[in-house]
Amino acid sequence: MTVQQTSMVSVYEDDPGDPLKINPPIPHPVPQLDTQPFPTAIAETAPQPNGAGPGTEAFRYWVAADALSRAGQTWAPLVPAGTQWHSTVGRALTANLNAGKDLNAFYDREGLWFFRRTVAGVTVAACESPEVVEHETGHAILDALRPQLFNTASAETAALHEAFGDISALLSSLRLESLRVEVLAETQGDLELSSRMSRMAEQLGWAIRQGHPDAVDPDCLRNLSNSFFYHDPVQLPPNGPANTLSSEPHSFSRVFSAAFLKIIAGIFRQQDLQDQAGLARAAEIAGQLLVDAVVAAPVVSAYYAQVAGHMIAADQHRNGGAHGRSLRSAFIRHGILSLEAATSITESEVARRGAGIAEATPGGGDDQGLTAVTVHGATYDVAQPLTLSAPAQERRFGIAGSDPAGGTLRPADPERVATSYLEDLFRRGRVQVPEEHRTETTLVDDNPSRLKTHEIVRSTTGEGFALIRRCFD
Ligand SMILES: [Zn+2]
Repeated sequence: MTVQQTSMVSVYEDDPGDPLKINPPIPHPVPQLDTQPFPTAIAETAPQPNGAGPGTEAFRYWVAADALSRAGQTWAPLVPAGTQWHSTVGRALTANLNAGKDLNAFYDREGLWFFRRTVAGVTVAACESPEVVEHETGHAILDALRPQLFNTASAETAALHEAFGDISALLSSLRLESLRVEVLAETQGDLELSSRMSRMAEQLGWAIRQGHPDAVDPDCLRNLSNSFFYHDPVQLPPNGPANTLSSEPHSFSRVFSAAFLKIIAGIFRQQDLQDQAGLARAAEIAGQLLVDAVVAAPVVSAYYAQVAGHMIAADQHRNGGAHGRSLRSAFIRHGILSLEAATSITESEVARRGAGIAEATPGGGDDQGLTAVTVHGATYDVAQPLTLSAPAQERRFGIAGSDPAGGTLRPADPERVATSYLEDLFRRGRVQVPEEHRTETTLVDDNPSRLKTHEIVRSTTGEGFALIRRCFD
């Protein structure tokens, strides 16, 4: 007797959707997780693929598995040969689908952790949103490509990590023909417009909005279709409502991810046919330029500009500069490059710097290129001097973002970037300071349920303490 094997599972393709506008589940083939170069796994036991629907654990499992698999397949063809997970992750990146009560998810160099909470009668499980799963997987992919970004004390490098997460979700969605067709219809081919693809995590956004009405966009968690203009994060407040720009990395990430959406839209306009296949091609071209850029770009202050410059250089190398206009236009419109900066990256300038770019390889030591900056601990309720890892590699392109008043901003010095970042973390209550490391005046956040992304530990290299990252959420 043979048992009939079901080879299809029912999943959400991008997000469950706002509870008032739920997306229909779609049948997909049973996903493969253990594939190179980014093998993934799920801690929970695999249920039978029996077509279970929304609200069941089996459904959540297959949604998460499908999204993990798609995110891996999205980045696999774009990364240099030999790219692998950060060494502490192990062979496969393991997702934990029910890690506790919260409206959040994070990547912590051991695996992915997804939380859930019931809000107004709706159980919102982060693992049930493909966009959330693909965002977190994006953190792990960027950590594989550029481990130096994990501990860098800089709002702008942290924000690039968040933008990469949202771009991971965007590119993963664009691998699906069904979503490409839907988005082209919704935007009538103008991909800069708000669409199902630009709106990240509608359901999680809805759930957060119930308790914190100004913390997220009115129709999603974050929208990549936005008009935020670059501002040096050192000058921005540490937090703010969703309709303003702050130095909080998810908030500030929207400047870069919005430019990336416009780049896809621009490259799409250049395709021979403005159809779903042309959109797939545009997404792949833009994703490739981003990977090339993050591998090669030095970790510095004004990091967005440096990544932008390296995307323009990568286009010169790979495509003879065919997409230079789309790239420059998007980066100028969001102030990531000043007009002067955008025009200074000429073909001959790229050729002159080409050797260094070609030698860049993914991975490397966690602290490579970072500079230790030591600050007085007492200001932060820490009993000894505190060491931060400041972004201080040598700049390849002498470029920076727009000064809103005109001209080019002068990048802040690495020490200023690092101390401003530390102060922001404390003002947001994101640092865990162990009791034994504190002074007597305690200013540490008193809400233990607030996720601590960083902690103060005894320095392994010198005297005193060091700030290290625990996770990206
Ligand atoms: Zn994130």
